Amino acid sequence: MELKKEITNLPKIVNKLKKKDEELFNRFYSIKLSLGRLKVTPEMETFVKSRFKSIEKTENQKIVCINNKFTWEGNLFNELRSMRPKPKAKFTPSELDNKENCLFCNIEKQTPLDIFGRIKGKHCITASNIAKYDEFHGLIIFNEHNPMKLKKEWLKDYLETAEKWFERTDKANKGMINNFLIWNCLWRSSASIIHGHMQVTASETKYQKIIKLEELCDQYKKKFKSDYFLDLFKIHKNLGLGEKIGKSMVLYYLTPIKEKEIVILSKEKKFSGVSDLVYNLIKNYFRLGVQSFNISMTNIKGYWMVRLVDRGSLENRNSDIGAMELYGNSVVAYDPFRLTKEIKL
Ligand SMILES: [Zn+2]
Repeated sequence: MELKKEITNLPKIVNKLKKKDEELFNRFYSIKLSLGRLKVTPEMETFVKSRFKSIEKTENQKIVCINNKFTWEGNLFNELRSMRPKPKAKFTPSELDNKENCLFCNIEKQTPLDIFGRIKGKHCITASNIAKYDEFHGLIIFNEHNPMKLKKEWLKDYLETAEKWFERTDKANKGMINNFLIWNCLWRSSASIIHGHMQVTASETKYQKIIKLEELCDQYKKKFKSDYFLDLFKIHKNLGLGEKIGKSMVLYYLTPIKEKEIVILSKEKKFSGVSDLVYNLIKNYFRLGVQSFNISMTNIKGYWMVRLVDRGSLENRNSDIGAMELYGNSVVAYDPFRLTKEIKL
């Protein structure tokens, strides 16, 4: 019988790999399968059947713990978690087109400018962030108000404009080695303004998570005479969780920080070179019902690293990130094996 590709079968899937691929997996990851057991009361049966579909599966929950031995990343997968009740707030998609009192629809008057002025793209314009979290902190504000309306050429223009912004900050103040771009799309992802915008920061010091990853790459190279990211991709590819698209590696990440995390490692010359790929992934996200997401882009050891993660429905009132994600392991419901099947590139 063919082994079903799903996260609960990961130990068996790994077991079927070629010896050296299995060794590589085990160098990076530890897996622990466990069964969370409980007893449903007779009074609960109807509710449990409608909510979780099966009493047997509710009473015996398969939990998969995956840890990356090199990084801080650790996960607890349990698909049943996605079926929990969620407190909802009313939301209608047309709200996203409401431009009333939108500061970013009136950029030139209602947003400050950087010391070097504004950069105008074809489909966006820059502003300076009014409450900065770093030395240089700018905004790439889209001409289109609704962030869920996106075109391939628009995204390319946003990223090319960001590149120009980084060049300008470097001219304004040499030594801005930390170039970081983020896109928090809509309120679930912590965006405070609906109008579509990305944020760019430039400073002398890289961020701690990036520094740690770079140190890890150096140590890995010394110890194993190999490239950490290439090996990480190899493991994902061996499991059917990695795809090579042009000069970019796409990983349906085994230790996602939250739902549906995808990591791109690209050798494109400029980060706007990954624009079409990122666009395709966002379009796939939208097709899967993702409404709010975080994206980050930066350079690590010669790779453009892009990370995308789903932040849940705009209707949800509860946060998707709790004490577990902050202080323990990330708790994730969406199986990366399902994600690899659903995303079409
Ligand atoms: Zn607007």
